[in-house]
Amino acid sequence: MGKQRIGLFGGTFDPVHLGHVLVAQAAMEEARLDRLFFVPAARSPFKEALTPSSGADRLRWLRLTLSGHSRYEVDTSEIERGGVSFAIETVKAYQIFFPGAQLYYLIGADHVEKLPLWREGQQLAESLHFLVVPRPGEREISFPEPFQGSYLAGFPCQISASLIRNRVRQGLSIKDLVPSFVEEDIVNRQIYS
Ligand code: ATP
Repeated sequence: MGKQRIGLFGGTFDPVHLGHVLVAQAAMEEARLDRLFFVPAARSPFKEALTPSSGADRLRWLRLTLSGHSRYEVDTSEIERGGVSFAIETVKAYQIFFPGAQLYYLIGADHVEKLPLWREGQQLAESLHFLVVPRPGEREISFPEPFQGSYLAGFPCQISASLIRNRVRQGLSIKDLVPSFVEEDIVNRQIYS
């Protein structure tokens, strides 16, 4: 039996949207992942100025969205730890929990050139293979040393969480861009309005 192939999908997921689900599907298929863990950050190191929606809301939306998928899991550890979430801390925990597994980390193409800014980059680069699905029109730039990864064909999609939040603010529909219960919750509770 080959090495177990474990994917980690970090991010803010404020809210989870169709783009995330399509990235996950591409990674499962193209990188032949055995399991994929969605790891919502308490706070992103790159968005420290922004206070995200509560961890409880973001976790509930993720759980509902992923409930039909037996190989997807939601990892609550970064939200439970609180503070600013650094990928390296989570990756070290997975190395202990899944010794010998090949770890993959899913990111958007906008993050590739910023990888050298990630904390403990050398250790991350030695531990992970990055997987990227470019949004439509995004260029495939090469991975900065010492990081390595692959671009997936996937299902390029323009949706981002900021697009969802902006559309709500402008009174535009987010139906079909997020799962229906996420849309209902956002509209009923006037989140982002
Ligand atoms: P925001 O607009 O608030 O920055 P986001 O949707 O881009 O939100 P996160 O919720 O943090 O970002 O998403 C987690 C990861 O998924 C990030 O690495 C992000 O780049 C990636 N991602 C999100 N949407 C897409 C998409 N449509 N195509 C490819 N990657 C995506």
